[in-house]
Amino acid sequence: MKTTYLIIGAGPTGLGAGWRLKELGVNDFLILERSSQVGGLAASFKDNAGFTWDVGGHVVFSHYEYFDRLLDSLLGGEYLEHQREAWIRMAGAWAPYPFQNNIRYLPPKERWRCVQGLLRARENQVEGRPANFREWILRVFGQGIAELFMLPYNYKVWATRPEDMDFGWIGERVSVIDLERVLKNIVLELDDVSWGPNNTFKFPLYGGTGEIFRRLGKRMSEHILIGQEALRIDPVAKSVTVKGGEAIEYETLLNTGPLDRLVLDKMESPPDAAIRAAGSLTHNGVWIGGVGVRGHVEDSKCWMYFPESNCPFYRVTNFHNYSPKNVPHQDKDDRYRAFMAEVSFSRDKQEDLDALMDRTVDGLVASGLMAEADRDQVATRWERRVDYGYPVPCLARDSALRTLQPWLESQGIYSRGRFGGWKYEVGNMDHSVMQGVEWADFIVRGQAEKTYSA
Ligand SMILES: Cc1cc2nc3c(=O)[nH]c(=O)nc-3n(C[C@H](O)[C@H](O)[C@H](O)COP(=O)(O)OP(=O)(O)OC[C@H]3O[C@@H](n4cnc5c(N)ncnc54)[C@H](O)[C@@H]3O)c2cc1C
Repeated sequence: MKTTYLIIGAGPTGLGAGWRLKELGVNDFLILERSSQVGGLAASFKDNAGFTWDVGGHVVFSHYEYFDRLLDSLLGGEYLEHQREAWIRMAGAWAPYPFQNNIRYLPPKERWRCVQGLLRARENQVEGRPANFREWILRVFGQGIAELFMLPYNYKVWATRPEDMDFGWIGERVSVIDLERVLKNIVLELDDVSWGPNNTFKFPLYGGTGEIFRRLGKRMSEHILIGQEALRIDPVAKSVTVKGGEAIEYETLLNTGPLDRLVLDKMESPPDAAIRAAGSLTHNGVWIGGVGVRGHVEDSKCWMYFPESNCPFYRVTNFHNYSPKNVPHQDKDDRYRAFMAEVSFSRDKQEDLDALMDRTVDGLVASGLMAEADRDQVATRWERRVDYGYPVPCLARDSALRTLQPWLESQGIYSRGRFGGWKYEVGNMDHSVMQGVEWADFIVRGQAEKTYSA
């Protein structure tokens, strides 16, 4: 088999690339997808009890007009629009997100620790670039907020010690400090919520987040080879061998699977520098636990953060609030809640995955999301293990990417997307689709890519 453009992976990046090629009038392309459906990490699954689950809470935070237009054309009118509502569970209470603007919810002693830390951080400002994420957190937030929230929460999410991470990825991802506002909120007892009139997101009426990509995949189904894993790449012969042993020849290759695996397992004889660079990239894995519970409780929260050690998850989504179709059926007397919990794991932070479902239910009870009596009302327990969850912005990342990407591109291989590009800061769905779109614009029209650069 032969094709001009070969794309590995039918996740948001691969589908974005395929769709843009089609828009540009290019039809000579193929997409290889190793799993049985399209969508990658943005796929959704329906369990035997009729609950729909995402691979962890997925919310569209679009930064692009092109992506918004595409989403509208894919969903038509079949979506719901919600206010983003994020909360934090701390010291037995709920505080609105972001934490630092709502520390009045803490007991007085902890509240003072946070303010004292902020004042001291201000007094003792240190010159020069922080050496790592931990130092950055301590300098910006001070000791109190760092120890109560930022350090434990980030370790729970990344499964990586903050001293092993860089902070250059932060940009708009972590809201930083406005001391006057922090103090005003404490003294005047004001709530400072991150949701407001423009903080809304669209969610598919049915099929979960994955419905977006199922529909996008349908537009180019004749180009997608499902259940076909790319195993070996020969950049000289320009061919990819798939699981069944067939070789597919290409002119240009776009990889959207994990970059480290591309180099270490699939490339013929990579140079030592590339092997070292690929080996220095780190990631976490994420376990997703869906717990469906009979009985309705009014609670408008979308998702919740859990920095403390009394539960295994770092985040839970009230998935029943995203669409009534995410639960089996909704009539007045028979209603359900669907809690979707995320737990990270890594070599540093090992988890007994077999025990996580029970620990998750215990954690939901401990945090008040489920009552003790709800244990008998559990209608489903769905779980999924994802080995590549978050590409960690580790200290070696940027230099590794500067080694790997030019070397791959010199051989006609491009690697983009959440794990293909390995940049968390441009690793959401909108970024990923646009990395694919911009790659197609670059390869066909020579237009410079804006979202991704190594
Ligand atoms: C827990 C969690 C929560 C998230 N929350 C959000 C959110 O709220 N908002 C948001 O915008 N984004 C969110 N994301 C990110 C979102 O899932 C990604 O942006 C998106 O899925 C990345 O798309 P991708 O195509 O780059 O990679 P992937 O989704 O990983 O897709 C890659 C595809 O390539 C296939 N593949 C890999 N190797 C091969 C091979 N050798 N041969 C053939 N096929 C292969 C895989 O099977 C997969 O289908 C979240 C991700 C996670 C894990």
